Amino acid sequence: MKTWDVIIYDTTLRDGTQGDQISFSAEDKLRIARRLDEMGFHYIEGGWPGSNPRDRRFFKMARDVNFANTRLTAFGSTKKPDVPPDECRDFQALLEAETPAVTIFGKSWDLHATDILGISLEDNLRSIEDSVRYLKSKGKEVIFDAEHFFDGFKYNSAYAMQTVEAARRGGADMIVLCDTNGGTLTRDAVAAIEKVMTVLPGDHLGIHAHNDCGLAAATTLAAVDCGITMVHGTVNGYGERCGNADLITVIGNLSLKMGKRCLPPESLAHLTNLSRYVSDIANIPPLSSRPFVGRSAFAHKGGVHVNAITKNPVAYEHIDPELVGNQRRVLVSDLSGKSNIAFKAKEFGINLDDHRGIERKIVREIKKMENEGYQFDAADGSLSVLIKKAIGEFKEPFTLELFHVIDEKAHETASRSQAMIKITVGDEHEITAAEGNGPVNALDNALRKALIKFYPQVEEMHLVDFKVRILEGSEGTAAKVRVLLESRDNDEAWTTIGVSTNIIEASWYALVDSIQYKLSKEKAPERGK
Ligand SMILES: [Zn+2]
Repeated sequence: MKTWDVIIYDTTLRDGTQGDQISFSAEDKLRIARRLDEMGFHYIEGGWPGSNPRDRRFFKMARDVNFANTRLTAFGSTKKPDVPPDECRDFQALLEAETPAVTIFGKSWDLHATDILGISLEDNLRSIEDSVRYLKSKGKEVIFDAEHFFDGFKYNSAYAMQTVEAARRGGADMIVLCDTNGGTLTRDAVAAIEKVMTVLPGDHLGIHAHNDCGLAAATTLAAVDCGITMVHGTVNGYGERCGNADLITVIGNLSLKMGKRCLPPESLAHLTNLSRYVSDIANIPPLSSRPFVGRSAFAHKGGVHVNAITKNPVAYEHIDPELVGNQRRVLVSDLSGKSNIAFKAKEFGINLDDHRGIERKIVREIKKMENEGYQFDAADGSLSVLIKKAIGEFKEPFTLELFHVIDEKAHETASRSQAMIKITVGDEHEITAAEGNGPVNALDNALRKALIKFYPQVEEMHLVDFKVRILEGSEGTAAKVRVLLESRDNDEAWTTIGVSTNIIEASWYALVDSIQYKLSKEKAPERGK
């Protein structure tokens, strides 16, 4: 019995790097390759050694790595018809990469041979056959990418078929049908694949689809249905123009919907981590709506939906999020119902059992605040404080009497900010002042300084991120600003929100919520009145 129904071939490190804004150093590539190997990916296309020194360096470093599951492949083109293979620079670079497998691409669209390469159709066929044969003679496993196969098939199917047969005569181990321009409808791809399968068995065929019509994953899965066994793609679908087939989506569907063995079952639960890991290295924010692994993939907002999933998650979830290492989220917003609040309270560890009917009151409060520009989806810290106050579990730890903020900027000197603050804690008044690199920083410093003798735990927390958004003012009213603050202590991070027409005041609200959240985590000494 063969172990795998489908072979996963990753080209994140080659085709992926051709995506807009994607750039990996050789070290980045090695980190990603190790990760893919750990997860059991069968092939990793490491790069194009003939085209750049970075990829040559990657292959050099990769020689010292013992990949447990993966075969590394180096990528390049077929040789020019009039150049003997021994003198073809690209070929020599492929061999010097010292990978067990090599992948070469050749033209399957007659237009590309005649109009782009400027060679005859016969020369193109000979070049494909000779290139494959030469690399086979060097002991390599050879994967042949039939570039533009589907466009070629559309305009001159007889010739496209001849290119595939030339690769086979040369001894290619795998022939991969490429939708290089990504413009082929899935149904047209299926018709072409069925034709190829009359001459070549599926276990020698692969699919490489681009996403220009949003169909790359669909075409890839349809190709597997036809009997093709190797699928090409990239993590997160990174790649030229609209990208490649997203292997995360493809693997999710193959494993969980189509019952195909393609990765070790235990790897599935790491798909979410893999997707975010590669986003991090690419320094591209993870797409929250990414199927299976996005932050929003199992996020529920509508009250009706939330009510239903608390009874049975199947009602609005196509799979259990944990199967792919993702998690269910319930968002709280002006669409919220009571169920969202109950769900969030449970998540925060707040018991609402003794407070019958309180959810309705909280929903009313949230709707009112959202009307003013608040948004609690992204501000769990503020929401938690709001719920705890509503049930009386947490009281205001201090009262603001007043604050002053002064900003100073003189010719050719850096700006400076100072804040003075007066607060009341219980019966005690406290006045402090502090400096900062900006008004919010100065205010934060002054407030902590004032609070520290009452609540020493504020010293454990610090601000990590500060986001400001201008909210459109409706006619006749001033525009508002929404400030989101991310804070952390040794255990966790939390986000709080403030809204006002004044940016300092909005920041102040978010700052106060942040400190209150920290204080509400532990039963702080009761000082509120
Ligand atoms: Zn491609």
